Amino acid sequence: MYFVVGAKDKEMRICKVCLETKDDDCFTLNRNKNGKNYRRQTCDACRAEKHRYRCNTDPEYKAKAKAIDKKSREKHKEKNAYFARCYLMIHKYGITLKQKEKLLELQGGRCAICLSTDPGARGWQTDHDKKYETATGKIRIRGIVCQPCNLTLGVAKESHDRLNRCRRYLRFHGRQIMGGIEWLDLWPQGGMVSEEITAKIGAL
Ligand SMILES: [Zn+2]
Ligand SMILES: [Zn+2]
Repeated sequence: MYFVVGAKDKEMRICKVCLETKDDDCFTLNRNKNGKNYRRQTCDACRAEKHRYRCNTDPEYKAKAKAIDKKSREKHKEKNAYFARCYLMIHKYGITLKQKEKLLELQGGRCAICLSTDPGARGWQTDHDKKYETATGKIRIRGIVCQPCNLTLGVAKESHDRLNRCRRYLRFHGRQIMGGIEWLDLWPQGGMVSEEITAKIGAL
């Protein structure tokens, strides 16, 4: 037997073990033989403690509980992974999975950087402004990007200078191949393209 007190929209119950009055959410829903839902009479905290105690004192119970756990994990693998993703999205980026999908839709189903429709091995990534987060503690999402682009941003430490130099470097060597010039003669140790070289091969 349990007691229900308070308004209908926020029901309170008294746990039959600890006798504390707690919110409805503290009592797991269960289903009886007739398929009817009901709240358990013992609060989740007390049930968890009982479970821990029995695991520590009864090896047979522990083995059984482990087997049930494993079976349930396998049964709900997909659902659990989805919930884990939802949780991560909200807590890490402050948006829901649905909002992420909407954002990707607005981007035409393409990476916000390279415009690829292929998300890469680990799926679409939510890119947010890390500097803004450090400065304000708030999250500002820039866009949905493919995994290679997200990795590129991370490895280059989002440095405009480094990324510009990468571009120049690639274009420089691209020109060498096209022009048939020995790049080792032109490319000084250390990187920077001198004005002399720029004059030789044209503006980058
Ligand atoms: Zn209790
Ligand atoms: Zn991309």
